[in-house]
Amino acid sequence: MSRDAGPSLTTLPSVTSVTPVTSIRTVLGDISPVDLGICDAHDHLFLRSPQLPGQELDDTEAAAAELDAFRAAGGAAVIQWTPYGMGRRAVELPRLARESGVRIVAATGLHQAAHYAAEVLARVRADLAGLFVAELTEGIGGTGPRAGMIKVAGGFHGLDRHARHTMTAAAEAHHVTGAAIGIHLELGTGAMDVLDLLCDELAVPPDRVVLGHLNRSPDPTVHRLAAEAGAYLAFDGPSRAHHATDWRLPDALTALTEAGHGDRILLGGDTTTADARSVNGGPGMPYLLRRHRPRLELALGEDLVTRILTANPARAFAATWGAAAWGGAGDGTPGG
Ligand SMILES: [Zn+2]
Repeated sequence: MSRDAGPSLTTLPSVTSVTPVTSIRTVLGDISPVDLGICDAHDHLFLRSPQLPGQELDDTEAAAAELDAFRAAGGAAVIQWTPYGMGRRAVELPRLARESGVRIVAATGLHQAAHYAAEVLARVRADLAGLFVAELTEGIGGTGPRAGMIKVAGGFHGLDRHARHTMTAAAEAHHVTGAAIGIHLELGTGAMDVLDLLCDELAVPPDRVVLGHLNRSPDPTVHRLAAEAGAYLAFDGPSRAHHATDWRLPDALTALTEAGHGDRILLGGDTTTADARSVNGGPGMPYLLRRHRPRLELALGEDLVTRILTANPARAFAATWGAAAWGGAGDGTPGG
C-alpha cells in the first residue's frame, strides 16, 4: 500500500470519541448551544399553585411585558421551570418568544404533591415517565411546543415517596432523551440526597442535574460537594424566600470559583408571584442583569459572570434528545 493512500485505520478517530451533537430545545425549535446568549437559567412566565393563592402568574400581556423588559436589559434567553399542571400556558410560549425575541425553554416534570389536586396526581402518577418523554419529544398537550428540561422537587432535608417517584420518572425520561433535570430544593436543602438518588441509584450523570434554590441554604460545604460531584448549582432570586441569604451570594459564588467550580454556576430570577414581576414594581427578570450582574462582577469579574450567564446554561441544558432534531413551530429564531 502506498504511503499516499490516506490515513491508516489506526489513525482515524474512533466513533466513541466523537462528541454527539447537542442542542437546546426552545419552544421555537432546537438551537445550537452557542446561540443561546445571555440566559436567565431559572424563571417563570406562568405559574399557578394552591400554595400561592391570589398571586398567579397567568397574565399573558404581563408575561410579554416582562420579556420585553428582560430583553431591553440585555437578556436573550429564559429557562422556564414551571412543570406539568401548574398553569404553564405552553401554547402561548412560541408567540411570546417570537414577539419578544427572547428564546424560551419550557419544562415538563412535576412539583411537590402539595401543588396539585389529588385527582390530578391520581391521573398522572401511573406513567409519569411516559408523560415527561411525550412532552419532551412530541409536544406539551400533544400539539404544544416541546419541553426542553425536566423539573422535579425534593423535600426539606429529605425525599418523601412522591419525590422519589417523580425523580425516578425524571431519571427514566432523562435516559430516553438526555434532558437535564432541574430540582426545586426545599429551602435549598437536601442536595446530597437528590444526587444520591438520581446519580448513584438511578445512574443520571451528575452534569445533567441542576440543583435550584441553593442560596436559601448557604452551606459552603454542601455547595462544594455538589459541585465536586459535577452537578450544576442554580442560584436564583431575589425573593422574600431569599432575603435572609441574598447577601451571602457573592461569597458563596467566590468560594465555588476559588475551588475551581465556576463552570458549575447558574443564575436565575425565579419570579414566582405577580407582585414580583418588574412590570408590577418588583425586581422581576431584568433584576438579574440590572442589579445582580454588576454586583457579582465586583466579586467574580466580568468574564466569569458573562460565562455564568452564557456558556454555563448552554452546557447545562443542551441535550442529544435521543432522536432527530426538532425544527419547531417556527424556524427556531425568535424575532427572526
Ligand atoms: Zn422556580
